[in-house]
Order: sequence, then C-alpha cells, then structure tokens
Amino acid sequence: MGIDPNFARTREKVDEENGVDVWGPVEPPEQLGIHGTHVAVDYDICIADGACLESCPVDVFTWVETPDHPASEKKVEPTHEAQCIDCMLCVDICPVDAIDVDGSRK
Ligand code: SF4
Repeated sequence: MGIDPNFARTREKVDEENGVDVWGPVEPPEQLGIHGTHVAVDYDICIADGACLESCPVDVFTWVETPDHPASEKKVEPTHEAQCIDCMLCVDICPVDAIDVDGSRK
C-alpha cells in the first residue's frame, strides 16, 4: 500500500526537519512518518530507490541518512518542495508509491 493522500487530515504535524513538515506518528528509528506537505514522502514506505531524485527536473529531493530503518537506511527529503512544478514524474516513477504531490493520489 502506498502513501495515504489524505495524510494532512488523518495525521498530526509533529515536527519539522530540513525545513519540511513531518507528519506522525514518529518513533525512530523504525517509524519516521511522512516528510513534506506539497511534495510528501512516506519514509516508512521509501526504499531509497532514488528514481525520484534522479528524474525531478527542478531538484526538489536530497538524500538523508536514516540508519536502522527497516525499509532503507537513507530516504529522499523533499527539501526544496517549494520549487515543485507538479510534473508528477516522481509520483509515477516511485516503485513503492511512497510519494504524493498535492493530493495527486486521491
Ligand atoms: S512533481 Fe515533478 S517537480 Fe515536483 S517533486 Fe515530483 S518530479 Fe519534482
């Protein structure tokens, strides 16, 4: 199952990291929540495939280390989500449907 496109209604904003919102629940290192709002990455689904980071035309994503997370030990942070042009490449390319852009999966 991919990211919940309704996360902004069903989850609480619990933190901010690298300038982006973090939506809980968060219990490190196993549970890291959803990072970002306009461009949202479910850290508990992300397997660090990297296709989103490579294909984004405006370099929204950066790598962050997430040691001991069961799905992968690094994740893509939507650090520059304000630059997003809604092309949906990342949404379409993610092999585990970990990314939602502006509620696109609704
Ligand atoms: S929708 Fe396009 S511009 Fe926005 S983060 Fe994804 S790949 Fe980058």
